[in-house]
Amino acid sequence: MQRSVFIAAVILLVLYIIALGLDAIPVHQTGLDLAISSHRLFAWLGLAFLLIQFILSARIKSWEINYSLDRRLADHRRFGQIGVTFLFLHVALILTQDITGAGFILTTPRIWGIAAFVLVMTAGAMASLHKRLGVRYETWKSVHLLTYLGFPLALLHVWPVGPTGQWYWMGLGATLGFFVLLVHRGVSIYQLRRQPYEVVDVQRENADTWTLSFSGKRVHYNPGQFGHFQLIREGRRSASHPFTLASSPTESKIRITPKESGDFTKTIGDTRIGDRAYIDAPFGSFTYHQASRHLLLVFIAGGIGITPFMSMLRHMKAQGIDRPVRLFWANKHERNLLFDEELAEMEAHFSDFRIIHFMSEQPDWMGESGHIHITRIQPYLPSMDCEYFLCGPPPMTRALESQLREMRIPRQRIHREIFEL
Ligand SMILES: Cc1cc2nc3c(=O)[nH]c(=O)nc-3n(C[C@H](O)[C@H](O)[C@H](O)COP(=O)(O)OP(=O)(O)OC[C@H]3O[C@@H](n4cnc5c(N)ncnc54)[C@H](O)[C@@H]3O)c2cc1C
Repeated sequence: MQRSVFIAAVILLVLYIIALGLDAIPVHQTGLDLAISSHRLFAWLGLAFLLIQFILSARIKSWEINYSLDRRLADHRRFGQIGVTFLFLHVALILTQDITGAGFILTTPRIWGIAAFVLVMTAGAMASLHKRLGVRYETWKSVHLLTYLGFPLALLHVWPVGPTGQWYWMGLGATLGFFVLLVHRGVSIYQLRRQPYEVVDVQRENADTWTLSFSGKRVHYNPGQFGHFQLIREGRRSASHPFTLASSPTESKIRITPKESGDFTKTIGDTRIGDRAYIDAPFGSFTYHQASRHLLLVFIAGGIGITPFMSMLRHMKAQGIDRPVRLFWANKHERNLLFDEELAEMEAHFSDFRIIHFMSEQPDWMGESGHIHITRIQPYLPSMDCEYFLCGPPPMTRALESQLREMRIPRQRIHREIFEL
């Protein structure tokens, strides 16, 4: 699925709902009356956007590369705000109607509607505010899942009102769509649970970074893609966390390299050989397969953002692909570096591969110091055209992307991965 096709389908659906909604409003109405009568139109728009939200967050692997999960989740955040606005308008207009008309009567469909509204609004508010409120990821994610309850409640609200004509088909479509998505999720979970992977190696890379290797059913992925990992240790299943598949797809085992950064990753070192894992992969479109063959590959990594580049370099080496590559890697201190020996071997192996390190907190470092800025990497780039791949902390990645855009680098030559879904 191409993103443009999906967005076009959403626009068509919105126009269709608007046409239906306006058609149902008596022709003579204007001003406040017209606004009040359109509350049902906003309800349908809100419901449609809720369903779109479920589609965007579904782990549909066949959509990856063209419209990857990380990009879908970015749209999920944008569309969520639009959907919530429609639902809010629906409720606000009903309240206006009740205030200006006969008063508010609490019927059963309305109770379902109020419950759905409260759940969706709570989930939406938590999604936008969890960082500011310092809410743990797992907590806000659980609250967010309440929307899965909100949607059937909204359907219970809609059906007794007795949607007629085209609205009937809209209601039926929404109900079926929701059902299909639930079945899809159920089947995916069932398949994952049937084929657990086994931890076959646990390696400490440096003070706070580990590499885990897994054996199990072969995953067909592009170098640089990621998966969702759930570790089962001492019979306890962790939450699902995204990690880059840092191995080359040519390897029989899957490797990930998590850095200790929070509740879950701080326990990675407790993983033992023989522990199990559920791996849902591959996702994402951050892969050098996206780049034009004749361009220089410029990889810019910040800290643990090196992992997708390791996968790509390992794949190139395994496949005998010898393309010109410049790897710029920002770290605080050289003690944070990883894969020293392997990268040194790669520098010797490839004919035109160079690594340029930037250290931001090491005064005695002899190479580049401070943060990476596009103007600081220019001297290292030959005159040929480049394709840029960025992966690091969100502020670094976003800053570099806007610096490249300011230099009029075409959007299709800038690829980025942000370690945040
Ligand atoms: C596409 C992608 C690839 C990644 N690859 C790597 C990698 O190769 N190596 C690595 O060290 N890290 C990687 N990460 C980051 C890694 O997923 C988080 O560091 C980890 O989930 C943090 O969990 P925590 O409980 O230890 O930390 P916390 O302190 O609880 O969380 C830190 C942040 O990580 C994110 N996060 C936490 N839990 C989850 C979750 N269950 N699902 C999604 N995001 C979550 C949230 O943004 C949160 O604010 C990747 C992330 C993404 C999105």
